[in-house]
Amino acid sequence: MDYDILILGGGIIGCSVAYELSKYNFNIALIERDYDIADDISFVNTSIVYDGSETSDDVMAGLEYIGNSIMQETCEKFKVPFKKIGALRVVSDDNGVKKLEEMYDRAKKRGIDGVYLIDDKDVYDIEPNINSDIKKGLYSENIAIVAPYDLAIAYAEVASDNGVNFRLEEEVLNIQNLAKGFRVTTNKNKFTCKVVVNTIPHEIYIRENGKVEDKEFVSDESYFKNMSYLLVDDNYKNKLNKIIIETLDKNTFIISSPTTTTGSLIGIKSTEKTSLEDNLIYANKLLRGLDKNNINNLFREAYNKDSMLIDDSEIDKGYIRVTGTHYGKITIAPAIAKMLCDTIANNLNCTLKKNFIDKRREVYKFRELGKKEANEIIDLDERYGKIICICNSISEGEIVDCIRRPLGARTVEGVKRRTGSGFGSCHGSYCYEKIVNILARELDKNITDIVDDSKNSKVISSRIKEFKDV
Ligand SMILES: Cc1cc2nc3c(=O)[nH]c(=O)nc-3n(C[C@H](O)[C@H](O)[C@H](O)COP(=O)(O)OP(=O)(O)OC[C@H]3O[C@@H](n4cnc5c(N)ncnc54)[C@H](O)[C@@H]3O)c2cc1C
Repeated sequence: MDYDILILGGGIIGCSVAYELSKYNFNIALIERDYDIADDISFVNTSIVYDGSETSDDVMAGLEYIGNSIMQETCEKFKVPFKKIGALRVVSDDNGVKKLEEMYDRAKKRGIDGVYLIDDKDVYDIEPNINSDIKKGLYSENIAIVAPYDLAIAYAEVASDNGVNFRLEEEVLNIQNLAKGFRVTTNKNKFTCKVVVNTIPHEIYIRENGKVEDKEFVSDESYFKNMSYLLVDDNYKNKLNKIIIETLDKNTFIISSPTTTTGSLIGIKSTEKTSLEDNLIYANKLLRGLDKNNINNLFREAYNKDSMLIDDSEIDKGYIRVTGTHYGKITIAPAIAKMLCDTIANNLNCTLKKNFIDKRREVYKFRELGKKEANEIIDLDERYGKIICICNSISEGEIVDCIRRPLGARTVEGVKRRTGSGFGSCHGSYCYEKIVNILARELDKNITDIVDDSKNSKVISSRIKEFKDV
């Protein structure tokens, strides 16, 4: 066998599974078709870490609860931004009050502490800037925000340092059952393995001699709604400090969350495709005086509810599938990874590695260092004293480090996401070209071979003969 275990897909689920399994004496590879892992996570790099109190599904609630507590520990260990800021769900009509009471009762039945049903006065004590006429609130002090991309990268770096082979730019085309184990065919190779952990959520590929695998699992309860996001800048005066969710009706809610860096994110879930003007009207139902000038960016995503399946019905043959999409998939990733890892280790009767390194190599964030510390780092490497992204104070040292690390960045997007450069108010107009040059130098590539994000996104199509530098 080429590998004991093949993990298919390098999103947050694949990376967390790779990390958990790398604690054991397995020979593991992860196959990802993109240039980078966790490429599908939103560029805002802020996710809510739920606590199991909001969902009606008991299984998801359990996974969220466990995921929340594992994630806090993991983020402390790997120095990933994680802030337990608390979330307040508010309603302004009797129907909404009934729903909050049901949620509260469920949380109590599930034994989730730190969840409180509160009156309008207490709501305004917690968040005086809420604009609506609130009747009741449900406050959970357990709910947090996390930087999901940093978490996925941390999982992957530690897994890589502990021997997991990350095979990027390889697309899985076919999975075949063998008498013992599987053959996985990619666009570049054929591998045999004992166990397949398939975390690809939607893609079409062939399984078992030409039979097309049933794609994404969609439960009866699932529904897809439009989610519009407004990224609000730090100059906005009336920002909310907690995660606030205001339910307007069965199909519409507004969510406001601080990000893990600067500014805040306002999400509007509705059934129709809303314009910027519509979104501002919705947002101002919750916030005071938000206007176009406060908006740094806007984007739209599909919102998915309750459509996940963790299928280990073929575990005896060595096949596990995690499929579907869910609004809390980042939250539950650590719980899923732990659960799958325990099952696989038991099934294969495997032992823990004695020399497992549960530590991420140090990352220096120049903007977070004090003057003395910053000077010490600059004395060691003067590139930390050269600022490339002036909006977010990102130094050349940080960019070089993010390229040279295990699973280092190979695209402009990879550098931006790992370091935070290019996400300031100039949207990268100052640093983009500098990043391209550093990537070319560090990867020993021609500047014309540097890509923004994926194979077909070359930044510079060809060279103009007269100029030596770009
Ligand atoms: C609008 C929105 C808001 C969200 N907010 C939150 C939140 O606040 N909190 C939270 O907990 N969660 C949240 N989520 C959920 C979360 O962001 C995503 O669902 C999660 O990142 C998905 O991770 P994944 O590993 O399952 O899938 P993906 O990230 O899609 O990873 C799958 C990987 O498989 C790769 N792949 C696909 N096909 C192949 C192939 N044939 N061969 C090899 N590789 C392949 C893909 O390139 C991809 O990298 C939100 C989701 C959405 C859409």
